[in-house]
Amino acid sequence: MPAVRIDGKAFAEQLREEVAVGAAGFTAETGRQPGLAVVLVGSDPASQVYVRTKMRQAAEVGIASFPHLLDVGTGEAELLALIDSLNRDDNVDGILVQLPLPAGISEAAVLEAIDPGKDVDGFHPYNVGRLSGGKPVMVPCTPLGCLLLLQDRLGDLSGLKAVVVGRSNIVGKPMAQLLLNASCTVTTVHSRSRNMAEECRQADILVVAVGRPGLIGAEHIKPGATVLDVGINRVEDAQGQSRLVGDVDYAAALDLAGGVTPVPGGIGPMTVACLLRNTLTAAKQRSNK
Ligand code: NDP
Repeated sequence: MPAVRIDGKAFAEQLREEVAVGAAGFTAETGRQPGLAVVLVGSDPASQVYVRTKMRQAAEVGIASFPHLLDVGTGEAELLALIDSLNRDDNVDGILVQLPLPAGISEAAVLEAIDPGKDVDGFHPYNVGRLSGGKPVMVPCTPLGCLLLLQDRLGDLSGLKAVVVGRSNIVGKPMAQLLLNASCTVTTVHSRSRNMAEECRQADILVVAVGRPGLIGAEHIKPGATVLDVGINRVEDAQGQSRLVGDVDYAAALDLAGGVTPVPGGIGPMTVACLLRNTLTAAKQRSNK
């Protein structure tokens, strides 16, 4: 039986509707909208698209966004000064710094400068520590989106074998931690792993976040597994047309898996919806203080 196509786009729409209801309630109670500051340094076209999408969707759910689009020549000190002023701005509940930052600016220094309570990306060491302690406050958006999709499809994840491919700080590591917190048996594989296909074939849940088209094929997928494809890769087809694909051979996964997310329309929309959800969470937490 072919796999179910896990529709991240539809689920994200539902999530945004819930955030819109929550944001309206927050605004009625406090007299102001939840606020998201979006900081972009430079003019990387992909980053510009991401930032525009985030601000448009924020507006749609009743979250005010405050864009700070800075010249590529902006220095680290200037950026840190901006973060400091956003930390102190009461209308700002969430601060998002679009990555990657230009060479010469320390990502770690910038991310650590963000008030952990406004760290809607969940990258601050305080939030990383809270997640690993099993008491998360702000959870990174992409892994959170994956977790919500998995829980929606599978219910209780306890005892399931999960394999995460990729160990980045923004996707792979927090994903593995979330799955462990959900009582899965978790393995992380990466570029140095041996017997990757064998490891992946054990997985009831396979989350792939690498950035290599076609990395995961039939030999990596256990029949009936749930496969989440986080990868986003731009490729050219035989006609020279550019299109987006994930890291998973989608046709092979459809044949074998129990469920699989498409690219586009899978994890990407969930990431943005979770950013909005985190912003509302941050706003509520700040107003309760
Ligand atoms: P990184 O480049 O930071 O990390 C990639 C990881 O993949 C590394 O841990 C690397 O291992 C591992 N890797 C590389 N080659 C292989 C291989 N041949 N076999 C196994 N593992 C390998 O990427 P990100 O985590 O930031 O992003 C991953 C993908 O997800 C990208 O395509 C990105 O565009 C996409 N993405 C999508 C999002 C969404 O919303 N859908 C959000 C964020 C990212 P090692 O550590 O050993 O080098």
